[in-house]
Amino acid sequence: MSNLDKILKMQKEFSLKNSIKKIKKIPQHIKDAIIPDIAIIHMRKDICDSCEFLTKNHRCLKCGCLMNLKVKLKHTSCPIGKWDKVKNLPQ
Ligand code: SF4
Repeated sequence: MSNLDKILKMQKEFSLKNSIKKIKKIPQHIKDAIIPDIAIIHMRKDICDSCEFLTKNHRCLKCGCLMNLKVKLKHTSCPIGKWDKVKNLPQ
């Protein structure tokens, strides 16, 4: 393994450890609000991406929310009914 490979490996491990530390610092009630199923997030995002009310800054003109965050939260829904809140997801 070259020195560059070793440095890249160390950088990757350091980055991963920092990410885990950051996730551990997030309060539990916030973690509980985030959808664990990435497929649901992608489905919501695809709907918003093709919506006429989404701005180029990813803000919804109907609710004013930043959609990159809103699509990840269980209890949010589209104000005009294009997608609904998530119910009964396993923890
Ligand atoms: S939340 Fe609904 S109205 Fe807003 S951008 Fe997404 S699909 Fe469109």
